[in-house]
Amino acid sequence: MATQIKRDLQCSAAEWAARQDLAACYRIFDMLGWSESIYNHITLRVPGEEAFLINPFGLLWSEVTASNLVKIDSEGNKLCGSPYPVNLAGFTQHSVFHKHLPWAHAIVHTHTPDTMAVCSSEEGLTPTNFYSCFFEGSIGYHDFEGITVRAEEGERLIQNVGNHQVLMLRNHGPVVMAPTLPAMFLSYYMLQRACEIQVKTNALGKPITVPPDVIEVHQRDRDQMLTAEFGKLDFEAWKRKLDTADRGWRD
Ligand SMILES: [Zn+2]
Repeated sequence: MATQIKRDLQCSAAEWAARQDLAACYRIFDMLGWSESIYNHITLRVPGEEAFLINPFGLLWSEVTASNLVKIDSEGNKLCGSPYPVNLAGFTQHSVFHKHLPWAHAIVHTHTPDTMAVCSSEEGLTPTNFYSCFFEGSIGYHDFEGITVRAEEGERLIQNVGNHQVLMLRNHGPVVMAPTLPAMFLSYYMLQRACEIQVKTNALGKPITVPPDVIEVHQRDRDQMLTAEFGKLDFEAWKRKLDTADRGWRD
């Protein structure tokens, strides 16, 4: 069946592989409770093209498949005959990052309660747990300006993300970017955990701040894992878990 759909889409082997990985990513995020109804996006650049894949607007993340992903250009115009619309308001923000950050091939933005809670707290993410210490000094923050991204806000978004791969939209939610989908997945996984633990720790009261010299050692040891394969083992493991429940994402 997948072969037939692939033929109908007339896409390259590389695009089909990207479609399957992105569909898996949507399903994994949903399985882990990180989806938000039919909203929010994970976008992925089609290898070797100035085109992106995005979820079809109106479907739950659990309904995304390789073939129903919509191929669009950087303005959000459809490049394939998909019957599904694209949530252009939602893509505007992703489009700003894809256009200005050529390394950011995979981008996710979520509205999970714990990441939104941290985005909505004045102190932002604090170096008070194992996961959050990975992100100390490498997160940008962007003040809330409302739902719609206007052209001039795009400039501020790029300014605020700086050379980081994570941008916390204050009062809103996180944006996590990476050169590959597996790297984005693992980076988001750690950020999600960091926020969950921070929310719980703050509820208990008196969080312990990790001293800078310990954070430095922690990040140095982490950096030894930062290869081009970062996140690959994790992503493949979660794909196997998906397959035990439903292989529909592959079609
Ligand atoms: Zn949002």
